[in-house]
Amino acid sequence: MARKKIIAGNWKMNMTPSEAVELINTLKPLVVNDEVDVVFCVPAIDIIPAMEAAKGTNIHIGAENMYFEEKGAYTGEISPAMLVDAGVKYVIIGHSERREYFAETDETVNKKVLKAFEHGITPIVCCGETLTQREQGVTIDFVRQQIKIAFLNVTAEQAAAAVIAYEPIWAIGTGKVATTEQAEEVCKAIRECVGEIYDDATAAAVRIQYGGSVSASNAAELFAQADIDGGLVGGASLKPDFGKIVNYGK
Ligand code: PEP
Repeated sequence: MARKKIIAGNWKMNMTPSEAVELINTLKPLVVNDEVDVVFCVPAIDIIPAMEAAKGTNIHIGAENMYFEEKGAYTGEISPAMLVDAGVKYVIIGHSERREYFAETDETVNKKVLKAFEHGITPIVCCGETLTQREQGVTIDFVRQQIKIAFLNVTAEQAAAAVIAYEPIWAIGTGKVATTEQAEEVCKAIRECVGEIYDDATAAAVRIQYGGSVSASNAAELFAQADIDGGLVGGASLKPDFGKIVNYGK
C-alpha cells in the first residue's frame, strides 16, 4: 500500500496563544489537501487554543516535546496523558535543538518514543548528522545508530506506525537544503535500517520525512523521491508558503 505523505510544521518557540489562533485562521484555507496528513506541532501553551481553531479542518495539532514519565515532580514538563487529554496525536521527539540545548540523548529519545506509543501518540522521531559528520563521511553510520537506539524495544507494529524525520543539522534554519540525492540517500538508508531491525513490511510502512530548509520551491522535488514521505518544516511553516508546501506539485 502506498504510504500517505505527512507534512508537519514545527513552530519551535514562536507564536503566543493568540498569535497561534490567528496563524491557524490564516493557514487553514491554504493547507487543504486530503492526500496528505497535515500536522502543526506547536508550543505546549498553544495546543488547546490551536486545537479549537483547527476544529473541523484537516489540520492535526501536534506537540514539540513530551516527557517520558507518567506524572509527578518534574517541574516544567508535559506528560503524555496531558497531550492525550488535549487531543494530541503526534509529538516531535528528539529534535536536534532539544538534543543540543536540552541535553536530550538517544537514550532519552528511546524512552520518549516508548512512552508516546504506550499512550497512542505517534512520535515524529528526529535524527540527522552535523556538518562535521557529513564531511567525515560518517552520516549513514551515525543516523543508523540514532535509529537503532531510538527504536530499542519498540514493536514492529509500533515502528510501522512511526514517523521518522531525517534532518541534517547543517540544513536546519540555514536556508541550506540538502540536495535531493543527499536527502534520498539517507532516507533510503533509514528505511533499510528499519528493515534490518524488523522486516520488509515494517520498512515499507514507516513514513520518513526530510527536514531542513524545506520551502515552496524545493518541496515537490524532495517529496517525489522514493523514500521521502513528506517533510518536517520549521521556518516556512509560519508563513502562507506552508500552504504551497502542503500542496506541492499542484
Ligand atoms: C525544523 O525545525 O525541524 C526545521 C527543519 O527547520 P527549517 O525548516 O527552518 O530548516
